[in-house]
Amino acid sequence: MEIKQAVGKGIKLPVMEAFYTIQGEGTFTGHPAYFIRLGGCDVGCVWCDVKESWEAGKWPVQSVEEIVEGALQYPGKLVVITGGEPLMYDLGPLTALLKEKGFTINIETSGAHPFSGQFDWVCFSPKKFKEPHPSIFEKANELKVIVFHKSDFAFAEKHAAKVQPACRKLLQPEWSKAERYTGEIIDYIKKHPDWNISLQTHKFMDIP
Ligand code: SF4
Repeated sequence: MEIKQAVGKGIKLPVMEAFYTIQGEGTFTGHPAYFIRLGGCDVGCVWCDVKESWEAGKWPVQSVEEIVEGALQYPGKLVVITGGEPLMYDLGPLTALLKEKGFTINIETSGAHPFSGQFDWVCFSPKKFKEPHPSIFEKANELKVIVFHKSDFAFAEKHAAKVQPACRKLLQPEWSKAERYTGEIIDYIKKHPDWNISLQTHKFMDIP
């Protein structure tokens, strides 16, 4: 089968990098995790800190077996699939094999493409630059909105109105704007206690 067809079926995927580290943000902050960063993103966030991920064709294509073999090299049993935008691909085959091997599987997504795959935790981080696909709203376990501009509070509430009632709601200052917005986020959360704060603690620890 040609590589393009195999990628289309999700049995091979472009992998920008994969590494074992500590999850720095969101609900799983502090957990050791194997990150699989898939190449390719068409969302175009101005403040994206992994712009090199955007072009999928730059990254080596691996079979799902090879990807899972990488995860099996470490003692941690939590995998985080991220990108780029991982839902550009059919994540069914990769997540099925990870499940078979006993992993807990989380995803971090902008929700801009149709949902696929089986996950234990779905972190939905919507972006202003591309509308989410409607399939994400019932799947999201965590709504994580990056605050880069004052209007992001209203943007956060707009998406909070669409997720399930049990979905956790997090506001996270964008790293370069943390000094500007962390105080406002704290005030906002004190007034709207259904929200929690998320910080990029891996950046404080200087780990990937
Ligand atoms: S969705 Fe993620 S990878 Fe894509 S541009 Fe935005 S921050 Fe970057």
